[in-house]
Amino acid sequence: AYSLRISQVEQKVKAYVTRTTESALARAAALDEKLKTWRHTKPMMGMPLAIKDNICTSGVPTTCSSRMLKEFVPPYDATVAAKLQDQEYLLLGKTNLDEFAMGSSTENSAFGPSRNPWDLQCVPGGSSGGSAAAVAADECVAALGSDTGGSIRQPAAFCGVVGMKPTYGRVSRYGLVAFASSLDQIGPITKTVADAAYLLGAIAGHDPMDSTSADLPVPDYMKALRKRDLKKLKVGVPVEFFGEGLDPEVEQAVRAAIDELKNLGADIKEIQLPRTDAAVAVYYVIATAEASSNLARFDGVKFGLRAKETKDLLDLYMKTRQEGFGPEVKRRIMLGTYALSSGYYEAYYGKAQAVQTLIRQDFSEAFKEVDLIVTPVTPTPAFKLGAKAEDPLQMYLSDIFTISVNLAGLPAIALPCGFSKTRLPIGLQIIGRAFEEETMLRAAHAYE
Ligand code: GLN
Repeated sequence: AYSLRISQVEQKVKAYVTRTTESALARAAALDEKLKTWRHTKPMMGMPLAIKDNICTSGVPTTCSSRMLKEFVPPYDATVAAKLQDQEYLLLGKTNLDEFAMGSSTENSAFGPSRNPWDLQCVPGGSSGGSAAAVAADECVAALGSDTGGSIRQPAAFCGVVGMKPTYGRVSRYGLVAFASSLDQIGPITKTVADAAYLLGAIAGHDPMDSTSADLPVPDYMKALRKRDLKKLKVGVPVEFFGEGLDPEVEQAVRAAIDELKNLGADIKEIQLPRTDAAVAVYYVIATAEASSNLARFDGVKFGLRAKETKDLLDLYMKTRQEGFGPEVKRRIMLGTYALSSGYYEAYYGKAQAVQTLIRQDFSEAFKEVDLIVTPVTPTPAFKLGAKAEDPLQMYLSDIFTISVNLAGLPAIALPCGFSKTRLPIGLQIIGRAFEEETMLRAAHAYE
């Protein structure tokens, strides 16, 4: 059914960079055969899923939607892919993204943008726009994305699906092509909160291959969903997220969702997160600094593209990077290199880290009073293709509500809470305490 659906709509949606439906069908047939004599099934067996194309899949191209890695076929699976492989899932393909996950619309993909299934003239969001569009258009049951500054939650909101960023350290990053290592986290994009809980359970857990993955037991997330009322739960609404720049239709939908949480028994409280306005600035110093260092490995020597007809080693480096990276990636490398260079390090990177600590403290203070925080996911519903492509600052500002969560390392989920008059989905964000995904999932499930 999914293979058929892909053949019907993919030409319009363009969610996938690489399709593997042929091998998925062959594997499905082999699994069917196996099940004739073999009664032991695994929960995710035969589940047709898609994976963002910055997560390594053994033997299947992993391009990061970049010319640099167009020909790159990883010889190993990322830990998340290996875990799904153990469960005998079916990989339908690798989904489109902004090059190296840098962007908010998939317009930075070297292979062209994906489209929003609700309105093909609109962006699906980014950077995991291909994953969100694929789920929304029924081109897979669920997908994996990565979230460094909103890249799971923002496209989920734009496409009217569920997207969750786990706590930093909850899911192994081994095999995820690094963008900003201190912020990157892999998570599920699904149709329902229950599916997100399920998929999180399948990919979470400690991994010796990722020193930042937390050595903590993985709770039974499905069990956490059983309690349907929200009595005794304190939910904070930060005033700073409801100010200037917030589309009135988005505000209305989110406020209606907050009323619904109240009806379910939650105790709603106004709270403050005073450094919210600094989050975008802090993020774009820290993320670009880390990116400039992480992307130094793409030099034409070890893997990926190698420029031809070069004079010497320096020329090889320069030509390869010039040809391989798109304009946004180059912009970030330059910004990050500048922020880390001697003489500027203290003024930019050092300062950004200091303000990051203050942002974390804001959340810690708030979580002394409340169990969850609810906000909009984005200031507006999905915008038109091309509307912000020429103006990086406008594009950066579309991440204003999601970014501080990454800077604080917290878990957050985006789920649909209504539509604009133009029939574009609107998203609700629920933020939890570190490693308390259960509470967040429970509230989201009770609401949906
Ligand atoms: N849109 C943000 C950026 O461009 C976030 C990207 C992400 O989370 N990978 O950096």
